[in-house]
Amino acid sequence: MTVTEEKKPVNIHELVVENFTPVMQQYLRERQKLTGRSVLFFRMGDFYEAFFTDAEEIARELEITLTGRPESNYPGGRLPMAGVPQKAVKPYVQKLLERNYKVYIAEQMADPKTCKGLVPREITKVFTPGTLNDLDFIDGYQNNFILSIFPDKKNENFGLAYSDLSTGEFYVTEISSTFLDQEVARISPSELIAPSQKTKRQAGEIVSEDSLVYSFSDFNIKQYINPFDKENFDIDLARQNLSSLFEINSVDKLIKENLSEKAQGLGLMAAGALVEYFKETLGAEFANNSAKNFDVIRTYQVSEFMMLDAATRRNLELVQCLNGSTQDSLFSTVDKTSSKPGRRKLRNWIEQPLFNIPAINARQDAVQELLEDYDLSNQISILLKKTYDIDRLSNRLASALISPRECNALKESVLIASQISSLMQSFDSGLLTSLKMIPEPAMDFCREIESAIKEDPSINITEGGIIARGYNQELDEYISLVEDSEAWRANYEESQREKLGIKNLKVGFNKVHGYFIETSRINEKKLDENYTIKQTMVNTVRAITPELKDFEEKITNAQSRRNGLEYEIFKALKDKLAGQAAILKNLGHAIAQLDALIALAKLAKENNYCRPELVSEPELHIIGGRHPVVEAKLPFGQFVPNDIDLGTQSEIMLLTGPNMAGKSTFMRQNAIIILLAHIGSFVPAEKACIGLTDRIFTRIGASDDLASGQSTFMVEMTETAAILNGMSKRSFIVLDEIGRGTSTYDGVAIAWSIVEHIAKSTKARTIFATHYHELANLDRIYSCIKNFQVLVAENENSKAKIEFLHKVAPGSADRSYGIEVARLAGLPKEVLSRAKTINNQLVGARTKNLGGNKKANTATEIEIDKLPLFNN
Ligand code: ATP
Repeated sequence: MTVTEEKKPVNIHELVVENFTPVMQQYLRERQKLTGRSVLFFRMGDFYEAFFTDAEEIARELEITLTGRPESNYPGGRLPMAGVPQKAVKPYVQKLLERNYKVYIAEQMADPKTCKGLVPREITKVFTPGTLNDLDFIDGYQNNFILSIFPDKKNENFGLAYSDLSTGEFYVTEISSTFLDQEVARISPSELIAPSQKTKRQAGEIVSEDSLVYSFSDFNIKQYINPFDKENFDIDLARQNLSSLFEINSVDKLIKENLSEKAQGLGLMAAGALVEYFKETLGAEFANNSAKNFDVIRTYQVSEFMMLDAATRRNLELVQCLNGSTQDSLFSTVDKTSSKPGRRKLRNWIEQPLFNIPAINARQDAVQELLEDYDLSNQISILLKKTYDIDRLSNRLASALISPRECNALKESVLIASQISSLMQSFDSGLLTSLKMIPEPAMDFCREIESAIKEDPSINITEGGIIARGYNQELDEYISLVEDSEAWRANYEESQREKLGIKNLKVGFNKVHGYFIETSRINEKKLDENYTIKQTMVNTVRAITPELKDFEEKITNAQSRRNGLEYEIFKALKDKLAGQAAILKNLGHAIAQLDALIALAKLAKENNYCRPELVSEPELHIIGGRHPVVEAKLPFGQFVPNDIDLGTQSEIMLLTGPNMAGKSTFMRQNAIIILLAHIGSFVPAEKACIGLTDRIFTRIGASDDLASGQSTFMVEMTETAAILNGMSKRSFIVLDEIGRGTSTYDGVAIAWSIVEHIAKSTKARTIFATHYHELANLDRIYSCIKNFQVLVAENENSKAKIEFLHKVAPGSADRSYGIEVARLAGLPKEVLSRAKTINNQLVGARTKNLGGNKKANTATEIEIDKLPLFNN
């Protein structure tokens, strides 16, 4: 065997199974059932083992040792093997899921100690990132969505269905390809599935490595897409799968409302396949438990919400900063929630702002009322901190996965919700009234749990110690027997002493004879026919009675009966209470919403935000606007507020100003204020009137997308193209330094024509920041364009020789002070002085050639090749 041959990767599907030892044959047969990017953990004694390429992959991913197993038929005589201890498997599974692997677990189906021959092994469980329902595995602070995508034949429209098994949410929509990127970015699923087909490799041979029917390479989708056989995306299967989960009416409604226009059923098919995927992945667990999670199927159109593409989400650092951290994101700055469901709710609001004035006003009304009674809001917020995740716990109740401890946590949370409810009686606004009444079945649930479950139940439901005394008479007897057997013995002893008049009578126990009554032989005559003599010794005699025999039997079996009975009672209790889950879920939603609204009230109070007025005309008037994140980072009072006034008079703001002056901050702050207003929040400003906005577009900063083979300039132009093709009159656009990535002439030309295009077409509200001061001429031609600048003051005493005032004012800057900022950054002195000389020469030459920087008066006078390009 040569080295090269040994290194050739092994295709597991090409191995001849019969050539291997029986246990490896068993392994290979199970391994061939896997689909997508997956590994098999094969139980062998105390370990889960992986072999072949799986072993190599997990050794690399989990940083564990790669060992080998002798196999004469394997190249090199040893096949790769790696394993993890059965008892500590969870963190390893978690790590693999984070890296988009599916993990299949094959268990031993018989006890190896008693089993003759090869221990049977079968795949019993599959973990995939999007089908986890174990609260230990998932992040409580955000949803864990799995998304199914189904394209039409022309790949113009897509059906999307996504769900979070841990909360029971299930959404369906249909969108055109234009919105695919941004919808996937918004949903941010932990797992994605799309139709695949099996490809024939050689004549007749089917390779089970599936390939996607439709390539998503034209889209900016970051997640790994799991192939799922296209047969699962079938309309009849979808109807069958969905009507078994949801009310048939809601499926009909879905078809009518969401799929009528194109009548392709794409969303329906994506949804049907998603259910099929759950069934396939979770097997019996899905049928018995998780399938009960879902109560409604929610359909939506992307047009119901403000649309934000992936670049805008990134640029505005909504939930994650450009450097990848989450610490200074908009969400982390505004998040004042007290509970996990509240936090998830607020995060969803930020990721999906509304496009509907009444719905926005409803949230604003609630925030305002909470602000008006701020002390009460604070009291509620203290109570909210004490609640557990009602949303997810009630979901576990619905799917009968709930544990006794979780039952108690749910009960405590509902009781706190009822305290919250009594504090909310004075509130009037619509969104706050839903919690005024706690539904009676929710209180019944609490009463039932209170009487049924012990205060501190044991973790393992098969080991007893979960059901409270007084709940079940038979169980009480077992518990008494187990826990009070000594007291019973002492009692019985006392009663026998009294009855027989024998003071030194004893009730004892030993392993050989069990329980017995012991007395001296002289008292033997007092024992009537009720006493059976079991043992006679020199001085004493031992006897039993039917009660004592009974007691003995009971005590011997009591523990195991207790365990069994407690398990049965708990199971019955779960089944009985599962019916209340939907009501508790609704309560959970109301609590989450209240928490998010109180968070917005706190945000407004602590940071002095104002209530923005939402209007239907595309206006934007903000007085004293601030950037919430930059403001929070600066010492109190140091942030300089700025106004903006865009709308009927002028729609496009051309913003010039030195580097470091605060242009990016100003542009982002306006986008963020608009976004916050659309989630129903108050905004960081003195006063704000904001026109309903369908989309926010941002094109900020330079970034390569090397992974998809795009250069900095290409990324810039692609994003700009998406903006110009997607904008409407209602959009808000932020364009920062467009055209910087290419030559100056090309750059100015592109920047110029982009501004002109917006001015001539949609007149969408736009802030266009640039260092091309030539563009300042545009305000002479188009009345909708106005020049603004960020002011600086020259200051010989400061290190940079300039002072940043961070104030936006009418007019255009005549210089960018690039060399001054470079000085601040620490460029060597000689470089700075040489730059100054060159700049002077260039500006001088240009001014001389053109006879000064005279501004043109009409459109026809503007000729781009005559512009003073080097005038800064
Ligand atoms: P460049 O043209 O070099 O990209 P810029 O004009 O976009 O610069 P910003 O990045 O917005 O400048 O701001 C630079 C720094 O100035 C910010 O990090 C912030 O610390 C400070 N700053 C910006 N705006 C304000 C403001 N309104 N009040 C106080 N400080 C501000």
